[in-house]
Amino acid sequence: MPIQTVNPYNSKVVKTFDEISDETLESKIATAHKAYQSWKISDIKDRSKLLFKVAEIMRSKKRELAELITLEMGKLIAQSESEIEMCASVYEYYAKNGEAFLKDKPIETTGGKAFVRYSPIGIILAIEPWNYPFNQVARLTAPNIIAGNVVMLKHASNVPQCAQMIQKIFEEAGASEGIFTNLYLAGKRIAKLAEDPRICGMSLTGSEAAGSSMAEAAGKNLKKSVLELGGSDAFIVLEDADIELAVEKAVLGRFGNTGQACTSAKRIIVIESIADEFLEKFKSRITNLKVGDPMDPETKIGPMVSEEALKTIEKQVNDTVKEGAKIVIGGKRIDREGAFFEFTILTDLKPGMTAYKEELFGPVASFYKAKDEAAAIALANDTSFGLGGAVFSKDTNRAINVANQMDTGMVFINESLASRPDLPFGGTKRSGYGRELSALGIEEFVNKKLIRIA
Ligand code: NAP
Repeated sequence: MPIQTVNPYNSKVVKTFDEISDETLESKIATAHKAYQSWKISDIKDRSKLLFKVAEIMRSKKRELAELITLEMGKLIAQSESEIEMCASVYEYYAKNGEAFLKDKPIETTGGKAFVRYSPIGIILAIEPWNYPFNQVARLTAPNIIAGNVVMLKHASNVPQCAQMIQKIFEEAGASEGIFTNLYLAGKRIAKLAEDPRICGMSLTGSEAAGSSMAEAAGKNLKKSVLELGGSDAFIVLEDADIELAVEKAVLGRFGNTGQACTSAKRIIVIESIADEFLEKFKSRITNLKVGDPMDPETKIGPMVSEEALKTIEKQVNDTVKEGAKIVIGGKRIDREGAFFEFTILTDLKPGMTAYKEELFGPVASFYKAKDEAAAIALANDTSFGLGGAVFSKDTNRAINVANQMDTGMVFINESLASRPDLPFGGTKRSGYGRELSALGIEEFVNKKLIRIA
């Protein structure tokens, strides 16, 4: 995949970047390794100041950064601005709370004292996707920088200007060279990079294929890894739910970011007695939306990230329809320049169909009726993924009981799933392992060193 900016609104190539040579890569690793030697013993207050400064610069450049996101991956401009706000709040969160999270943890022991100290481990390699090009990077970078690690970024090849901009912001904030380094690299070079003893941890957010390839390389070299992979989240609406609220959140949860989020509400599961009413309202909310330029604040349907992504979802929808499913609305590409796909709802889905078993990474909702709560839970769990989920009910205890039976890393009740700096984020099953954000996010790449005093 060439490293280049292609505007998905009109498919025009805007700018192309060269991959770095092996010699340049070696020199960047050496610089990062050197930077780590002083960063790991630096005062945590200085690390905190750096992150506060990064957040401040991001907020001050919000419009410029948002336009870059929209240019490179087609997100609606208001959602791009929200991403920058969220991203700044992640840096601020760790700037504020990092010191407390990293405090020694005393252990009660007999005949002496003991505590666990969280020490940094070295260079952490972050392999990130394009769908939240600033925020995905922040989730890995902020906790590690405050912990005293340094970060090297291999970003998705279609967001090179966002990647470069993040490094520039760190430089502008006063980070010495090597604290945060952007690398223009193809994914296939990661396996070799994993062999380098100076790289001490690896984290990948992306597809199962890329995750498995990175984890194999990490495992072979005995490196700790974190995987944040795909999902096919269930959005369960019980018969006692507030239907208006559930519909509103389903629209947001499924079609935000043009459906290209790991935690999108990909499978809407509604109890039979209210299913028709829900579906009618859900459909009407995505009818006659304005299609157009994602830079225009009036636009409600912008492009998908690329022509390739559009073709993938188009094929998944066509295959599922051939297998017997029905289209309630949408179902095809929009007849205009750029990677536009109609907001779509599929019904009559059965086990074995393409949309039943695969992740649909685009604006397509799979709609299911379940005869009762137990059937809804069984359906929700009938997937290889285990990222997130949502439950809607006016009875909180009932909803918690349903959440308890869902095989996922996260469940939100009466809201669609969204990441927040203070809540742990991550999945189980084929959605990966490890956690980002919150106090848990800082624990992945630190040496939890026991110190015992006789
Ligand atoms: P992708 O193709 O897997 O790309 C993600 C990153 O991995 C990119 O930087 C990519 O680089 C790199 N990569 C690709 N193949 C690789 C390999 N063999 N070894 C090492 N790195 C490799 O993912 P995508 O399809 O663009 O993104 C969508 C997927 O990410 C969806 O499945 C989505 O659910 C998932 N996702 C998960 C989370 C989460 O937090 N759980 C968040 C967002 C997205 P190139 O661009 O150069 O190929």
